[in-house]
Amino acid sequence: MDFSQLPTFRLDGKIALVTGGSKGIGLAMAGALASQGAEVIISGRNITDLEQAVGLMTSQDLSVSYIQSDVTDKKQVDDMINQIVEKHGSLDILINNAGMNIRKPLLEVEEKDWDQVIDTNLKGIFFVGQAASRQMISQKSGRIINISSILGGIGMPFQTSYAASKGGINQMTKVWASELSPHQITVNAIAPAYIKTPMTEPWLDDEERYKTIVSNTMTNRIGELEDLAGPAVFLSSDASSYVTGQILYVDGGWTAK
Ligand code: NAP
Repeated sequence: MDFSQLPTFRLDGKIALVTGGSKGIGLAMAGALASQGAEVIISGRNITDLEQAVGLMTSQDLSVSYIQSDVTDKKQVDDMINQIVEKHGSLDILINNAGMNIRKPLLEVEEKDWDQVIDTNLKGIFFVGQAASRQMISQKSGRIINISSILGGIGMPFQTSYAASKGGINQMTKVWASELSPHQITVNAIAPAYIKTPMTEPWLDDEERYKTIVSNTMTNRIGELEDLAGPAVFLSSDASSYVTGQILYVDGGWTAK
């Protein structure tokens, strides 16, 4: 074994798309990939947020640009992938991250709540994954990382549609891994526990809930955005070429308890 020839974690020359990269976990992972040399494109619906995120990253000499695109709209998704390939020539890494949540007790979940969560978190992930795979199959290479949640594997109150969407993502991850493996494409999921982001901040403001969440971890702390950087870079890099179909829990040990 030649230790000077090991696969690296660097992403120089790789073209990466991070959906929902304007805020929270997506922004953290976009910056992490760019810091390892990737050319990163972030997407989202709100232009001001996208511009701010690109400004933050380019001010730190990272190579990042944005495309405005709604993951629930198939045409916008297909256009986004075409635009990336036309401009950059390939799509090497997809962080399939855009998502949202509407937390309600089971009996209060309305049809429109269910539709919005499932359309964004499950249909959106499918649209983007399908369009990206089409390109990656033609290249015979690629990395797809779907962003799931601990709620894809465990039950908690008020998470009917969200947990259903994340359980679906876990299953899609395994199916795509098996289908795309002959094309040298790996497909994995990252499943975080609670991380402080614009999506979870109001939920975590409740002191009792915050304490319960922290006590569920082995690490006795809430997750930080930085905790997502290493897992995202690893699963995007050559170092993970024998890892596929996996759900990587980034949860301070919560689901192992
Ligand atoms: P966030 O701070 O609310 O950011 C969500 C991102 O997704 C934003 O950039 C948002 O931009 C984008 N987005 C939402 N709907 C979209 C749509 N229809 N089309 C395109 N982009 C859309 O959320 P976050 O906490 O970082 O969560 C990111 C991912 O991590 C989600 O999949 C979430 O389920 C997962 N996750 C989060 C946690 C946590 O504790 N934070 C834990 C486990 C899993 P626009 O609104 O401008 O479109």
